[in-house]
Amino acid sequence: QGVQIKSPISDYLATVVSQNSKDNPGANAAYIPELAAVNSDQIGACVTTVDGYVYGAGDIDVEFSIQSVSKPFVYALAIEEHGLAWVLDRVDVEPSGEAFNELSLDGKQLPKNPMINAGAMTTHSLIGEGTMTVEQRFEHIRKGLSKFAGRDLGVDEGSYSSELATAYRNFSIAYMLKNYGAIKVEPADVVKGYTRQCAIQLTASDLSSMGATLANGGKQPVTGEQVVSPETVRQVLSVMTTCGMYNEAGHWVCEVGFPAKSGVSGCVVGVLPGNIGMATFSPRLDEAGNSVRGTRMYKQIAKEMVLHMMLPP
Ligand code: GLN
Repeated sequence: QGVQIKSPISDYLATVVSQNSKDNPGANAAYIPELAAVNSDQIGACVTTVDGYVYGAGDIDVEFSIQSVSKPFVYALAIEEHGLAWVLDRVDVEPSGEAFNELSLDGKQLPKNPMINAGAMTTHSLIGEGTMTVEQRFEHIRKGLSKFAGRDLGVDEGSYSSELATAYRNFSIAYMLKNYGAIKVEPADVVKGYTRQCAIQLTASDLSSMGATLANGGKQPVTGEQVVSPETVRQVLSVMTTCGMYNEAGHWVCEVGFPAKSGVSGCVVGVLPGNIGMATFSPRLDEAGNSVRGTRMYKQIAKEMVLHMMLPP
């Protein structure tokens, strides 16, 4: 358990990776200099079962920054800390249909959901709101994400400083949030903490383990730790289903048919409840900010393996 094993499943994943390596459309995220420079040929796919077996192919041990894939996991930590009702009073759960970095609030002046930056920065600020320092908040998040992964995760300092130096858009969002009373923490501290959260470093193999923890009702399959409750997982996976792939969420749920979350480093985590966590990594993105080859691999695997949630067993 927890060790990558050779089987027809890894052979199948190797085929998918090789088929998807033939071309490489899209572009690396350009607005974060460190991400723009990442080797865009990299590609990997990994699956972790709820009983802790890991199958993978391609670049599944290459480290990258987690970026927006941190959002559902930090949302889970916020719900564990404060309870769902309290969190729902601060961040709504309606799909926005807008880009991930839109400066938007709903009619109640709440961020529309925790998967877009406005909602994710608010969610970040809810961790230890009024009780934790900026450093303690980040450390709580880093430790929490590490529990999902089943190993201690570090930070990509290069990605952190590179993004922070040009984070004008996220600063605008944070000042808007503060102006409307959505966040209580100082905007600059929220942007710094959130950017650091996005720079937590991991591999596709780690990410598929994080997905498997969600697939397993919040219990890490290898360490056996109950990281969050099944009720929290239910909420997180529901929001991932409706909002995880931003303004592509509708197409995603029709074609792939299970909850997922993408990050601008080119990673995508997917969760088939009760079965598997999955992760893909390939840096080039489409217009919505989702990995092109990652999306393609999910579509292919979901179709060939008949994984869509809405299909009868
Ligand atoms: N750190 C990135 C940002 O806030 C994360 C965005 C993403 O992965 N979609 O812009």
